[in-house]
Formats: sequence, C-alpha cells, structure tokens
Amino acid sequence: MTLDIQTILVVLLANVIGTAVALPVLMGWRVSRAARAFQGAAVAQAVGWTAFLVAPRIGDRWVSTLSMACLAASFVLLWTALDTWLGKRRGHRLMLALAVAVPAGYGLGFASYPFRVGWSNAGFALQLALLCFALASPAPHASRRWRGLVLLCLLALAVVTLWRGVLGAFFTEAYPFYRATHPVNVAAALLYHVALALSTIGFLVAWREEAERELRVQASTDGLTGLLNRQAFAGRAGDVIAAAQRYREPLALLMIDIDHFKRINDTRGHAAGDEALRTVARALKASARRGDLVSRHGGEEFCVLMTHAGMAEAAAFDRRLRERLAREPDGAPGLSAGAATLLPDDTLDQLVHRADQALYRAKAEGRGRLVHAA
Ligand code: GH3
Ligand code: MG
Ligand code: MG
Repeated sequence: MTLDIQTILVVLLANVIGTAVALPVLMGWRVSRAARAFQGAAVAQAVGWTAFLVAPRIGDRWVSTLSMACLAASFVLLWTALDTWLGKRRGHRLMLALAVAVPAGYGLGFASYPFRVGWSNAGFALQLALLCFALASPAPHASRRWRGLVLLCLLALAVVTLWRGVLGAFFTEAYPFYRATHPVNVAAALLYHVALALSTIGFLVAWREEAERELRVQASTDGLTGLLNRQAFAGRAGDVIAAAQRYREPLALLMIDIDHFKRINDTRGHAAGDEALRTVARALKASARRGDLVSRHGGEEFCVLMTHAGMAEAAAFDRRLRERLAREPDGAPGLSAGAATLLPDDTLDQLVHRADQALYRAKAEGRGRLVHAA
C-alpha cells in the first residue's frame, strides 16, 4: 500500500475546515474566553493549511509565510485556552515570541529550503512542547483524562515535527519537498488526522468541564452579591464547625442586618436597595480573612463565620466593616450585628440562633451596633 502525502493532506484540509466551521456552529458564538480561543485556533489552522496547500500555485513565499503565521497563531490560541481552563500557565512570552519568530524567519530565509523547513518545524515543535508543558503542569480543578489525551496527541506531533525539521535541515535529500514519501513525513501527516480528531474531543470535554464548574459556582453563590448563598454556607459551615470542635479551636459567628433597609427601597427605589446590598457585600468580603465564610443569609441579612476567632476578633471584624462602609463615597446603610462563639456541643443552628438573638437585642437597643450573645 502506498500512501500519497498530497491526498492525505487534502483530506486533512477538508477535516480542518470542517472542524473550524462545526465548532462555532455547535458551540455557538457567545462562549467563554477559553472556548473562543479554541474556536479561533481551529479557524487559524484551517486558514493556515489552506494557505500551505495553495501556496505552491500562487506566490509561494508570501502565501506559505502566511500559512506559517496562522499555524503559529493557532498554537498561541490553544495556549490561551489552556491558560484559562487550567489556571495561570507559564511560558506565555516564549509562546508569543515563537509565533512572531517562526513566520518571520521562514519568510526572510525562504530562499534556503533547509533553513526554512528546519526553522519552522523546530519552532512549531517548541510551541507544541510548550502546550504539552501547560497541560502537564499541575491543575487541581481539571480532569487528568482530557489533559492526558491532548498531551499525548501534541507530544507525538512535537516529536514528528521536530524530526521532520531535522530531516529538512540536515538530510535534505531524504525530505526534499513537503510531499516527500519519507516514513516520518507520512507518519506526521497521518498523525495529524488522529491528533485533530482526538484533541478536538479533548478540548470539547475541557469546555464541558468549564461549564460544569460555572454551574457549581452559580448554584452556591447569591446572584446579586456574589456571596455564598444560605445552602452553600450551611454545607461549608458544618465542616468548619466539626473541625473546630475536634481541634478545640475558637470560632465566631456574626449575623448582620441592614438597618431600615425597607426605607431605602421605599424612598430611593429597588435598584438603590440592590446597590446598597452590593456595597455591604463588597465591604464584608474585603473585611474577611482567608478561610472566613461570608454569606447572604436572606433579604438584607448576612452571616460571617470566622475561623480561629473569639469575641475580640468578631468585634474587630465589626469595627473594620463599619470603618470601611463609613469611607464609601456614595454613603452606605447602617448595620446591626449579633455575635456568638462556638460551644463544645453546638450545632450550626444553635450558633446561628444565639447570634440572631444578639442581633435582635442590637435592634432593640437602638440599631447601628454590635451585641455579643450572652
Ligand atoms: P430593620 O432595621 O428592623 O432591619 O428594618 P428593615 O427595613 O431593614 O427590615 P425589614 O425586614 O422590615 O425589611 C427588609 C426589606 O428588604 C424588605 C424587602 O423588600 C427587602 N429586600 C429583601 N431582599 C431584597 C433584595 O434582593 N433587593 C432589595 N432591593 N430589597 C430586598
Ligand atoms: Mg433590616
Ligand atoms: Mg432583616
């Protein structure tokens, strides 16, 4: 069986173009930044391969340089997608530098076949290696399965790409033009098909994973303020309380309620009421320490669970919060607060109940203050 490179590449072109069109049609246009970068990478691949295959017929030098630029850009876009899906990755500058250097060197050194083939393939191999590095670096929130699959595809491509570059640069008679039927060239062309199919599936799984993560966040946060909602708070607080009781660590809980909130709604409108809620939420987040849980308990009531904290820390939090709100340029509503500390056999409900009673007293005693539970 003889495999004809030109045929393999033409079929590849059809696949790449099909993928570039299918992705936005299936995924839609209004997708996340990472998903858009992935779609962009597919389009850049399609334009790149089209330019590569038509270049010999029309202005070889400029069109094939354009093809190099598109292929290099597609790897930058894939890297951008990974940077978002997996969390901050290293190597961004090198990736960008290669995306400029590969087409620039290729265009300038076009007259020398060994140079341009060696240069461009070495550059692509390095870009692919950077993508592999991005996939392999720790990413605790992402599944290893899709990362492993895409890593395997890109690693194999990096190896054959580098190999092809070495052939072109140093063993030019074995690889004198892109359609040469050298086994490495045939393997590279076939591998491209497999890598395209598998890595597209892998990236689609990454996209689904992102959507699932987004849904989980939405299910546990309050839409208006971005704080934890009551259910998510209860789940997390249960664990924090159990750990504090096991290790005999102090824990404080603050219930905070906006004073005369109804008046804000009645006099300045519901939108102003919403803005006041957001202002208080921002101040709560800014005043909390890492590890504290801040939630919107309902309506205009908030709850803060403070780890390693007793009454003194609760009072300090309350002070920080009021100072911050007093500095708000557009003003902020007044607050009443009740604080309670954890007892050895407390449940969350009992702790909340005591803080609530203290809050009730704060209201009764004239509002705008913190009261400690008895
Ligand atoms: P107090 O000082 O005794 O706490 O009085 P208050 O007016 O703050 O408390 P009250 O319980 O009488 O009123 C709370 C109001 O909060 C009533 C409700 O319409 C309003 N509210 C609840 N959720 C929202 C919301 O998401 N947005 C806005 N704008 N208002 C809300
Ligand atoms: Mg209120
Ligand atoms: Mg209330």
